[in-house]
Amino acid sequence: MDSKIGKIMLKDEKQVDYKYKNKTRERFYSFIKKIKINYGCLNPECKWIGELPPCCLEFHHLHNKVKQISQMTCSSIDAICKEINKCTILCTTCHRLTTHNYLNSNNFKLCKVIKQDDHLIQYHDNKILLEIPIISVKTTTPRAIIRQKSENKSSVHVTKLVNTNIELTNKKALLNPPFLKLHWQVIAGTILGGSSLIKPKKGKHYYLSMRDKNAEWLEYKAKILSNFASLEPFTKEKTNRWHSLCFPVFDQFARLFYKEGKRHLDVESISNKLSTFGILIWYGDCGSYKDKKIIFNTRIWGKEGTEALSYYFTLCGWQTEIIENKIILDEESSYKLIRMLEPEMSGTGIEIG
Ligand SMILES: [Zn+2]
Repeated sequence: MDSKIGKIMLKDEKQVDYKYKNKTRERFYSFIKKIKINYGCLNPECKWIGELPPCCLEFHHLHNKVKQISQMTCSSIDAICKEINKCTILCTTCHRLTTHNYLNSNNFKLCKVIKQDDHLIQYHDNKILLEIPIISVKTTTPRAIIRQKSENKSSVHVTKLVNTNIELTNKKALLNPPFLKLHWQVIAGTILGGSSLIKPKKGKHYYLSMRDKNAEWLEYKAKILSNFASLEPFTKEKTNRWHSLCFPVFDQFARLFYKEGKRHLDVESISNKLSTFGILIWYGDCGSYKDKKIIFNTRIWGKEGTEALSYYFTLCGWQTEIIENKIILDEESSYKLIRMLEPEMSGTGIEIG
């Protein structure tokens, strides 16, 4: 079974979800507006008295223009800062008078925004004017607890986790989240464990919805999939929940795990792709260990689905029996599976036996 975690991005996942793109664009503009309003017109002799709305304030490049700020919705935060720092902000009147050489731009102040950790700091006359959390541009912040966990216990997939987070600071990655083999395993394991794929009535693509009694376990998975969501896990009606945004990437899972709107398994195609890490995620969702035997609760898959999954275990060479929508591995197979899963457990919080 393939347990390698790769970095390959699949071609068909490069498509952009336009709803999501608009949301990101909105965030970008609200962030740009904040900077404009806080500076106001930077022409010291501006005749306009009182506050101006952001629509009357414009960025004016004082040197080395590479790109217009308003066209940088897809650029990285570093690139946006770099470009903003070449500009001054002027009201529409002062801007027009400057471009037609009625005003001398020599004594206009430059903008100064600096990225520091997860904040953008806006300066004026070398004093901090405002701290803008980058969360308004970036969609998620890593959870402190999980971050600590991954620092304490280093393992293969936790290291990969850190890598996926680095990509988050790049806005291009947000519009077009990188899809790793690791993501495939977590999504497939989670769906096998009972989570659902849902297509909104007017939507084009599916989203993933997860629930779990164990908040920490849910956070662990949500952290791996954070590129695909705008919210962290939340609690509603006493249930811990998390859901992704709609992305084309989830449609391939719908084809694999659903048929005509109902759960359906194509065991052959799953067995080719599911790695030990995927099985571990599945176990984390609906598995238990009793009397030296591993038990998977497959109630959500019904009788037919349970039989199909039991067949999957047979393909792996393990002996099982089915009791009331539960698949129970015999002692020897359970022992073998635990030995296989062990190297993947570090950092996940899962312990078997
Ligand atoms: Zn002005």
